[in-house]
Amino acid sequence: MEVLKTLIIGSGPAGYTAAIYAARADLHPVLYTGMEPGGQLTTTTEVDNFPGYPEGVDGPTMMVQLQQQAERFGTEVRIGFITKVELATTPGGIHKAYTHEGTELLAQTLIISTGATAKYLGLPSEQRLRGGGVSACAVCDGFFYKGQDVAIVGGGDTAAEEATYLAKICSKVTMLVRKDQMRASKAMQHRVTNTPNIDLRYNTEIDEVLGDQVVEGLRMRNNATGEVEEIPITGLFIAIGHQPNTTIFKGQLDMDSAGYLLTKGKTTQTNCPGVFAAGDVQDKDYRQAVTAAGTGCMAALDAERYLQEVGEV
Ligand code: NDP
Repeated sequence: MEVLKTLIIGSGPAGYTAAIYAARADLHPVLYTGMEPGGQLTTTTEVDNFPGYPEGVDGPTMMVQLQQQAERFGTEVRIGFITKVELATTPGGIHKAYTHEGTELLAQTLIISTGATAKYLGLPSEQRLRGGGVSACAVCDGFFYKGQDVAIVGGGDTAAEEATYLAKICSKVTMLVRKDQMRASKAMQHRVTNTPNIDLRYNTEIDEVLGDQVVEGLRMRNNATGEVEEIPITGLFIAIGHQPNTTIFKGQLDMDSAGYLLTKGKTTQTNCPGVFAAGDVQDKDYRQAVTAAGTGCMAALDAERYLQEVGEV
């Protein structure tokens, strides 16, 4: 059976950037797209903060272009996903991966760029209005609500950071925290409470997002008093955490308590020799397309160096 030099799992900016670099280094990468080809950016409309697009670019277009760029240098992109891996634990060992069709793949190096999935509340009205004013990324989409009233859900560091970010752009930010306290660090909480245009509501949950095609308002409920209130907003940001897509690596790769893959020092090297992690699957702090692309590049360079060290290139 053919042994691939580099197998890449995941087709977001990290995976495709790793593919561009690996292909140009003659590693003949094969990339499995995963269940959401193009990754999280395909659920975004306009991407305005990726360098090199002065007029912005819509997320799906950018991902098609990244795929084309990876293919131009010989990356083989396969639509499909990996269901199981058996990782070698010694330098030079061969890693095994199994596709959704049951095919077994052998690879000398593996680049994991399976990303993370934003958590949503699960309300039907929230799901219906995703892309119509409901977003899980304030840094990506906040700009579109300049001068408008928006709301954000969550009480962690992400929600606190995004609320203060939105407060600089929007006229008013209503922040909904389901408990009577925030989970965010004290420093972040102070930033929220010291920002005059953030209306902080504790013990508050959303009953329904209002609007037909686009978000027009919010019906929220105080879970301590039972009081129900409707407010007009045009954007709703969900910031209740992300789930890294690492289930198939459990027990084989080191992860933190939330399931993010751990890498060594400044590299993308995991605890298994020849296995590298790039993008949101190993980054819960920055989570930007450009940082994911940067670590994708690093993973390909790390893979190339590793193959040289074990005498395979
Ligand atoms: P967290 O898991 O820390 O917080 C999630 C928040 O969402 C909690 O307040 C939680 O409420 C709330 N929540 C969860 N489910 C629901 C729901 N169904 N309805 C309403 N609220 C809900 O996630 P974060 O993304 O904030 O942070 C992830 C990690 O990244 C953390 O370790 C954080 O410290 C780190 N981080 C660090 C940053 C920095 O240092 N600059 C910036 C951003 C993140 P409850 O408390 O009630 O469970």
